[in-house]
Amino acid sequence: MTLDSPAAFNEPGPSECTPAESVDIHVDPNNAVQDQEIQVNLPKEGVDVGCQFHAKGEQLMMKSAETQTEFTFYIPSHCTTSTQVEEGDFQIQEVDPPVEEVTETISPEVSPQKDASYLPSTSDCLSDDSNVSGSEDEKEGKLKPLNPQDDTKFVVFKQELFKLFTRCPDCGAVVIKKEQSTQGTQLFVTMICKNGHKNFWSSQPMIEGMAAGNLLLSSSILLSGSTYTKVASLADIFKLKFFSERTFYSIQDKYLFPVINEFWHQEQNSVFSELGDKDLWLSGDGRCDSPGHNAKYGTYTMIDQHTDKIVDFHVVQVTEVSSSNAIEREGFKRCMNHIKDHGGQIKVVATDRHVGIRADMKRNFPEIDHQFDVWHLAKSITKKLTEKSKKKDCGELSPWIKSVSNHLWWCAETCEGNKELLREKWISIVHHTANIHSWDSADIYHECPHPPIPRDEARKKRWQPGSAAHDALREVVFDKNLLKDIQLLSLCSHTGNLEVYHSVQTRYVPKSQHFSYKGMVARTQLAALDHNANTGRQQATVTRGANQGELQYKLVFPKHTKEWVAKPIMEKTSRNYLNPILDAIVDRKRKKPRERSATLTAPHIPKNIASKPRPPRADVITKLTTRFSNN
Ligand SMILES: [Zn+2]
Ligand SMILES: [Zn+2]
Repeated sequence: MTLDSPAAFNEPGPSECTPAESVDIHVDPNNAVQDQEIQVNLPKEGVDVGCQFHAKGEQLMMKSAETQTEFTFYIPSHCTTSTQVEEGDFQIQEVDPPVEEVTETISPEVSPQKDASYLPSTSDCLSDDSNVSGSEDEKEGKLKPLNPQDDTKFVVFKQELFKLFTRCPDCGAVVIKKEQSTQGTQLFVTMICKNGHKNFWSSQPMIEGMAAGNLLLSSSILLSGSTYTKVASLADIFKLKFFSERTFYSIQDKYLFPVINEFWHQEQNSVFSELGDKDLWLSGDGRCDSPGHNAKYGTYTMIDQHTDKIVDFHVVQVTEVSSSNAIEREGFKRCMNHIKDHGGQIKVVATDRHVGIRADMKRNFPEIDHQFDVWHLAKSITKKLTEKSKKKDCGELSPWIKSVSNHLWWCAETCEGNKELLREKWISIVHHTANIHSWDSADIYHECPHPPIPRDEARKKRWQPGSAAHDALREVVFDKNLLKDIQLLSLCSHTGNLEVYHSVQTRYVPKSQHFSYKGMVARTQLAALDHNANTGRQQATVTRGANQGELQYKLVFPKHTKEWVAKPIMEKTSRNYLNPILDAIVDRKRKKPRERSATLTAPHIPKNIASKPRPPRADVITKLTTRFSNN
């Protein structure tokens, strides 16, 4: 980059960066402040220099260019105009008041600058984010107007932006009146030049009376699983003009929720038609979605074990059931009925050991094979053994816990659907841990499958029948309920993929946050859409270097096993599925309210959690303060 006369421009600080690596700028050094002509040669490829904008179609500043183009700027000597700015009486028309921010008028403040344009200095650096080549849409953008959702957005500082509003776009005369107002993230600027031309500029396109940025940023907040509060505090710290909470919730209600609802139902229908009349093997699991122990909502999700797709989920509010304990059972019931209503041929359902669900399966769906999830059961056994191992003289149980849990998995995997074989295999662990590897006490399974253990190795085993640790193990293994439950592992079903899904769900529905019922549903729908769009990803491979093509792993150290293990790294998830959702949101905004409501599918809304109507606010506060003063 060459800059013949850096003195002619505002020198940015040394830490500032610019992407304009190859900009070629020629400036007449004698005309720094006087009337001058600045010639700017832009490089072959488009560069993000300055801003692209129009005021009534007039280009005020240099734009990115495809070809080596010379721009001529006429900048007269009296270009330091901030002191000439007057309060104008020009009012900006407000648009779409019910949803948008109230227009806020701020007195113009433009800091006096020597020069009207910013050009990068030679000391500027290129950062990782630099993109000197410009993007495709920029090259073609001039001919074909982009949809606002596809357009690139920039962060623009006010001081830099207002350097562009000193001259009249019509005649080049000085602007004597300037007024700005905002509508959420939208900025409006009105300029009146000394020859009386009035020009109006806005920082964003409007979509049927709403600033595109307000609609799209609200959409991005929800679609990314973030929250208004989080992004608003970011905006506050960054001093970014932002919209109010009311605006966000209104946009959410009118445009985002209905569109997301529609997309989820489309997705669900396509899952149903993909599964067709095949026998379904489902896994179901509940998740408590409220902060703390005070459950307000629970979500029950069902996933298809073959395709790994979410088939259905239901959010249950505690007011809909007798107790928070019943939430999971209710969610399960709704899922089962809904899937059956859609013609789903459910063959097997794996769940955790919820008592109510087991009873419902027996009563309402006797034809369906109810299985317990191996993962949940193994977890519960590990927990029991860990507790026992902390008891007096039971410390020697500890090194066996992982083996016992693995043994459960192995039993489920190798029992070939035979419940009795599964039970006998499971019990065999008490023999093996006592160094007994064949026995007569069983009907089908009489010996361990491993080769004989060498004498010196066997001697290291400290377990003998009768030790306190071994008794503790026997207690867990022979637990009456466990022996009954274990038979429901015969198909070795597990909900491991649901555990993975729950972590996706947590991204959209953070447990620390409270959401409305509609918010809960929409966010869970987004999580399910995200999951379904990203199923079937392969393990990532190394893309360059000597190990190119090799599978990628990461090493993790799980708290419960306290062993380093290698975990496959999967290919990155894609966000492409969000593009049609954004398009639909913008389309919905473009529709007339009457047409909009026609497409709205109302989700089921349970009654409010408060069982009494809300009293006047002042009364409640008085009650609190008098209680305090009495104490
Ligand atoms: Zn003018
Ligand atoms: Zn053995």
